[in-house]
Amino acid sequence: MPVDRPARRVVLASGNAGKLAEIRSLLVGTGLHVLPQSEFAIAEVDETGLTFVENAILKARAACAGAELPAIADDSGLEVDHLHGAPGVRSARFAGAGCSDEDNNKLLLEKLQGVPEAERGARFRCVMVYLRHAHDPAPVICEGVWQGRIGMRPSGEGGFGYDPLFVPSGSAQSAACMVPEEKNRHSHRGQALRQLVAAMTPVG
Ligand code: IMP
Repeated sequence: MPVDRPARRVVLASGNAGKLAEIRSLLVGTGLHVLPQSEFAIAEVDETGLTFVENAILKARAACAGAELPAIADDSGLEVDHLHGAPGVRSARFAGAGCSDEDNNKLLLEKLQGVPEAERGARFRCVMVYLRHAHDPAPVICEGVWQGRIGMRPSGEGGFGYDPLFVPSGSAQSAACMVPEEKNRHSHRGQALRQLVAAMTPVG
């Protein structure tokens, strides 16, 4: 007779309800139960790292310490070849503190004015980490990359952030034209999350 194992609780170092739902849907049947950090009154940390992995670990460590549970965190952004990888870890605040997605997209188009299609290569990158406890010296680190280019003008109504300007490789339309299920299949976050879930739930 199969023995029911108790669910392993894990805290998600994010206040984003969409990320929580996405992660929970991938964890169905694995015995892992993800809780948002808001349940533990954990404040958002300053993302002071120079790399995605540093920021993801900062966020996960704070969540581990606050909840006294293992934690998952991610950090992501857009890298544009013509801008030598910018905005990178500064993607959310490219146009300044408190700026909107629209401000960021406008600034990106300005910086790429006159740059031909062949030189508008870009990618989204997402780093996801799993820390067993706040002093874990060997976090599980997974990474997803979604290759594409920056379009000449925004298009599409869906998504968020730079989606209206990001045209994935092999596609004629921007990521903002994709339904969420299609975006998750291809996106940097979907890739990183599937790898992390596989690493956290070994068979047997
Ligand atoms: P975070 O890792 O959720 O904090 O995302 C950092 C920033 O990167 C976001 O605010 C967006 O500007 C950008 N970004 C990350 N992932 C995406 C995406 O899937 N579409 C559009 N923009 C994104």
